[in-house]
Amino acid sequence: MAKNEEEVKNSVFGFGKSNDAFAKYFVGTSYLQPLAENAEAQAAVHNVSFEPGCRNNWHMHSVAQILVAVAGEGWYQAAGEPAKKMKPGDVVIVPPHTKHWHGATKDSWFAHLAIMVGKSQNDWFEPVSDEDYDQLN
Ligand code: MN
Repeated sequence: MAKNEEEVKNSVFGFGKSNDAFAKYFVGTSYLQPLAENAEAQAAVHNVSFEPGCRNNWHMHSVAQILVAVAGEGWYQAAGEPAKKMKPGDVVIVPPHTKHWHGATKDSWFAHLAIMVGKSQNDWFEPVSDEDYDQLN
């Protein structure tokens, strides 16, 4: 069993299903568990889980995104900044229109809550190259 697989799959927030709708924006397989959505507030909370090595492509949201690490070990990186390792309890606020990516470390599963308030338009860019990703791990 890969590192932290049990913690991620048995998280109190649930594991969900493979995130097929967004698969084209990811390297590897991610899983999505919707937790709450409110149309009036235009707010949504999801638990996103990543298999080892899985990360999303560089992207930006038109509103802020809050990431709360739940289980395992992952990375968050904003363009032009060093990547930050995320462990359970770590919280990152991604400002609006900030190019960034998030995902698992190479050898560990990872899960984070993704919290968005406001109607977001998302722009997707290039994948995080294996070269750049492997340097982190
Ligand atoms: Mn994001």
